[in-house]
Amino acid sequence: MITGLPFRPSPLVLAAPSGTGKTTIAHALVERFHNFVFSVSATTRRAREGERDGVDYDFVSRETFEGMMAEGALVEWAEVHGNLYGTPRVNLERAGERGEYAILDIDVQGARQIKERVPEAVLIFVFPPSAEHLWARLTQRGTEDLDEVRRRLLAARGELEDAVQFDYIVVNDDLERAIARVRTIVEAESHKPGRALDFPGEVDRIRSEIDRVVARDRVHRTAGG
Ligand code: 5GP
Repeated sequence: MITGLPFRPSPLVLAAPSGTGKTTIAHALVERFHNFVFSVSATTRRAREGERDGVDYDFVSRETFEGMMAEGALVEWAEVHGNLYGTPRVNLERAGERGEYAILDIDVQGARQIKERVPEAVLIFVFPPSAEHLWARLTQRGTEDLDEVRRRLLAARGELEDAVQFDYIVVNDDLERAIARVRTIVEAESHKPGRALDFPGEVDRIRSEIDRVVARDRVHRTAGG
């Protein structure tokens, strides 16, 4: 089935205030769709219980992180809640080579840097449906104490107004609906002329076909008349 012109998937950035559920959305996309790959970030934060090195994050020392920064190995980086986080450039390169969507689960500062450095990236701001949702998610996961929850909620107050700078806003009122919205965005993006691998080539192809069809029609009419 022809679904559109051949195109190259671009990185998909999901940014949101802490507790909005963007990581759940990112992992669900990767589990369900073979052409989505999670971009594993490097961080100086300590692993939480159940987190796996190399899967959830590359857990590195501050020294190693600073080395990566100096070498230009990170396409963006930011300090978030007192820890350093960054996206290894190689994640984007590898996904590009394989024709996959790299999903970047990063903060708003990182998203801004990606917009500058990787203009073809699609930026989605995951929006919380209410403060109660944020509060519930942050307290239920039990990984932060109440002071930290409060700090993250107050940070969210400021981050919300950044949503307007993104390409899309997806409200995460329901996981299934949010996933469907992201899929719709990805689908629509794939139909933009600027994303086609060889738009002039496609135009030439259809033009040649038109010429052939017109010539055939002329032959038919000559033969018939
Ligand atoms: P957490 O410590 O809760 O896993 O993540 C804290 C925040 O850092 C989240 O908003 C998360 O999306 C963000 N984050 C994770 N990886 C990166 C990254 O590579 N770069 C940036 N800028 N932020 C990140």
